[in-house]
Amino acid sequence: MKPIPYGRQSVVERDVEAVVGVLRSDFLTQGPVVPRFEQRVADHCGVPYAIAVSSATAALHIACQALGLKPGKTLWTTPITFVATSNAALYCGADVDFVDIDPVTANMSVAALEAKLADAKKQGKLPHVVAPVHLMGNSCDMEAIHGLAKIYGFKIIEDASHAIGGKYQGRPVGDCRFSDCTVFSFHPVKIITTAEGGLITTRDPDLRESLMRLRSHGITRDPERMEGPSHGPWYYQQIDLGFNYRLTELQAALGLSQMDQLDAFVEERHRIVERYRALLAGLPLRLPVEGRDSYSAWHLYVVRLDRPDLIARHRQIFESLRDAKIEVNVHYIPVPSQPYYRKLGFHEENYPEALRYYRAAITLPIFPGLTEREQEHVATTLKRLLA
Ligand SMILES: *Cc1c(COP(=O)(O)O)cnc(C)c1O
Repeated sequence: MKPIPYGRQSVVERDVEAVVGVLRSDFLTQGPVVPRFEQRVADHCGVPYAIAVSSATAALHIACQALGLKPGKTLWTTPITFVATSNAALYCGADVDFVDIDPVTANMSVAALEAKLADAKKQGKLPHVVAPVHLMGNSCDMEAIHGLAKIYGFKIIEDASHAIGGKYQGRPVGDCRFSDCTVFSFHPVKIITTAEGGLITTRDPDLRESLMRLRSHGITRDPERMEGPSHGPWYYQQIDLGFNYRLTELQAALGLSQMDQLDAFVEERHRIVERYRALLAGLPLRLPVEGRDSYSAWHLYVVRLDRPDLIARHRQIFESLRDAKIEVNVHYIPVPSQPYYRKLGFHEENYPEALRYYRAAITLPIFPGLTEREQEHVATTLKRLLA
């Protein structure tokens, strides 16, 4: 049996042909395919605007900048995320802080958020932006977080890097009913891929304008937005300090083709989860669950060891799984424990639920194409190791 990764892309002949078609066309970048891809994702999510960029990291960066994060302002997120979520605020010179997780879903705890907001208000240190992360593809309780945003006046960026194809209250994640914008990632391990790539959805036309400018050097060609008269048809003005965060036409063609398969991918991930539930039943493991009102995209399947003696052997169990050619992983190391963040003054001990989660978590393989035989190998190996 060849090694089983924890996640991988599913690329078929149709995807290859879509990319090759673009290579034979007039535009490799800044052509018609990126807007078509954006429209496709916007339609899927039921939002007016989608802005494609070169990665979710780039998406988070310009979303933070466009929403006004800067020195003196703060972004709050969860400690159990990829470092890119909080790094985005640091790129803007802003501060970050973390809200501990809910032990059931491992998403940011709404109760902890509420308590921390009440405290921050007394100290005059309210966050400017809160960035909930839909861990494993399972939506946070966005209606509750949005309710707190109305009371405390913060903006919301949903980090839905794991969650395209998921639903909350029966509507697609990314519809921004309860947020200012939503960020997706199209890295090959995620639900759909453009190799590297990301995208932001929003309902706010001004935010869309800012994001479009920041994606491309802060330049505008709209005379309405210029200072003074235009010099002629060639004229543009740089009015913000932007970046080159554009997605290429090749990537957008792959993304469009992958969007055709999105529902099938997520359905297959649900079938894999059902099989894991049957295969792993009765083992001393805590299996991941969907939150209330959530239909997960199931990007990840993180189980937790559920006995103190097993938690003490976390590393050994992990290594034995790797020895059995099961390329398990851990999502995530708490961000406050990273050396860069420790130097900023963070301590993982201040996020006890995140630390408890980290010490027990193992990410099992889940991706379209994972076979029943491979899943059985994972289950048999776990049974042997946990006996
Ligand atoms: C993958 C990921 C990112 C970064 O995505 P890229 O497209 O690789 O930049 C950000 N946040 C979370 C939660 C992720 O899983």
